[in-house]
Amino acid sequence: MTPVPSDIEISRAQKPKSMNQLAEEIGLLPEELEAYGRNKAKVQLSLLDRLHTQPDGKYVLVAGITPTPLGEGKSTVTIGLVQALSAHLKFNSFGCLRQPSQGPTFGVKGGAAGGGYAQVIPMEEFNLHLTGDIHAITAANNLVAAAIDARMLHEATQSDKALFNRLVPTVNGVRRFSPIQISRLRRLGINKTDPATLTPQEVTSFVRLDLDPSKITWQRVVDTNDRFLRKITVGQTGFDIAVASEIMAILALADSLLDMKNRLARMVVGTSRSGQPVTAEDLGVSGALAVLMKDAIKPTLMQTLEGTPVFVHAGPFANIAHGNSSVLADKLALKLVGRDGFVVTEAGFGADIGMEKFFNIKCRASGLRPSVVVLVATVRALKMHGGGPNVSAGAPLPKEYIDENLGLVADGCYSNLRKQIQIAHLFGVPVVVAVNVFKTDTKAEIDLVCQIAKECGASDAVPCHHWAKGGQGCLDLAKAVNEATITPGNFQFLYNIEMPIVEKIRTIAQKVYGADDIELSPEAKAKIDYYNQQDYGSLPICMAKTHLSLSHMPDKKGAPTGFILPIRDVRASIGAGFIYPLVGTMSTMPGLPTRPCFYDIDLDPITEEITGLF
Ligand code: ADP
Repeated sequence: MTPVPSDIEISRAQKPKSMNQLAEEIGLLPEELEAYGRNKAKVQLSLLDRLHTQPDGKYVLVAGITPTPLGEGKSTVTIGLVQALSAHLKFNSFGCLRQPSQGPTFGVKGGAAGGGYAQVIPMEEFNLHLTGDIHAITAANNLVAAAIDARMLHEATQSDKALFNRLVPTVNGVRRFSPIQISRLRRLGINKTDPATLTPQEVTSFVRLDLDPSKITWQRVVDTNDRFLRKITVGQTGFDIAVASEIMAILALADSLLDMKNRLARMVVGTSRSGQPVTAEDLGVSGALAVLMKDAIKPTLMQTLEGTPVFVHAGPFANIAHGNSSVLADKLALKLVGRDGFVVTEAGFGADIGMEKFFNIKCRASGLRPSVVVLVATVRALKMHGGGPNVSAGAPLPKEYIDENLGLVADGCYSNLRKQIQIAHLFGVPVVVAVNVFKTDTKAEIDLVCQIAKECGASDAVPCHHWAKGGQGCLDLAKAVNEATITPGNFQFLYNIEMPIVEKIRTIAQKVYGADDIELSPEAKAKIDYYNQQDYGSLPICMAKTHLSLSHMPDKKGAPTGFILPIRDVRASIGAGFIYPLVGTMSTMPGLPTRPCFYDIDLDPITEEITGLF
């Protein structure tokens, strides 16, 4: 329809097909589906065993050029593309999307179910509680926080003997270690299973984690943009938003229940006074965390406006974590679509961040290899990179973005678009550029982007009208993607995992961001030395950098050169399995603006209809 109605109006006008029908169409057995209400269902991981001999489909990554703060349409392109592939070209296809945090839904950016005629429906269920995975993460994360504080209190107030008697109680006349305790003893080098045989020294090292209060790295979380929780004066803790929890990153990277359990156990929550890392397993809490997360590990099945299948699963932060949906959703979807099918998955932020982490972290963890990258570009973002004025959410677009301006478009293409294409080529993967068309774009501007993209090495470049026309408007992209996957790519990682931490950071900074070099603060150097001593040196790197520039300076657009990337600090998520250098300060608890999105969100008490979501 013209004009295109609001997202929620479009979503509500389409009646979703039943989950049973969708499940049957994609080849699921009834017992593999766990319904959550009428329009969502979790899918059991046993499906992977049933289909393990089935060849995987083709794996398509949707990434983007450096965005404006408004977002350039990666989610909408992902959904439009699967609608085109499935509903129009009749390929088995799946979209794999991240679950959004409620922070942006009620804050500035709004939801993440796509937009216009390329959406996951019902969008209000997608954007709000979904199947409770983020609530499970919040519960698990805060249980760890409570376990840390309780343990410190008990260690401070009790003798070794009293602690031992309580930690290893006598049940029916027998004193026995739990499996988690035996595992901790082994890591301490004590290979004993009979509590009566521990020496007094062994008892001390077993009962005292001796956490250094100034070196606790674990924070509490809540899924609201609540800036007042960043620092609170009672105690020494602060709050992060729930999706910044390491448990979210683990959910996204685990490839089985066992793998998730092991990763949860390995999470380091702080350091003891003698400098040893203290883990969730040391706290005895890792089994309980696995219990809290046992349903969250199953991906949630939903559908697009055109009735094609979508998995929604995990949504880790894209700066301090890797910003990609789950390995398990991608693996299940690749089996379900089979050899000639397509799985389209999305990486957060620009390709320099989301795509680099998709390859170096997610593909390394999963063993999956992508066939093609779809690089989303918009005329408005290219004009910004070509020297146009700043664009900000909530403010009207300056006139350069409304009137035709081929000069700005060309400059943006020869800087940011070219660089992002080159970055994908570093990994040996072909690139198709998707120009997400807005109603202010002119034909000459769109043609120019397509022409320069091909000149810069893209296999193809096409305009996409999915927002206004759904899958029908994305057919050219679907055909170009199919074409690009015919010749197999030559995927390679950017760095060898065994390279020293500093060299891995330098490689990303120079080859991906275009920096001359890196500069490590004394704090960063000390942390790297510590991680090397602890044998964490061969983990991949997860850069925490602004997404608004290829450099660390958000106002430097295009493809900046001649800069030194400052590494302020380096941290580690040992359970998730990466080291994350901090380039500048990263907020892990966003705040609300003066007029947040929630002003427009309301519920009709008679019809139960939700209004105001977008
Ligand atoms: P990203 O995933 O890159 O952050 P989204 O796909 O979520 O971007 O799109 C950001 C916002 O822009 C959404 O509200 C979406 O509905 C809107 N949008 C995307 N493409 C178009 C378009 N072609 N025309 C109008 N609005 C669009």
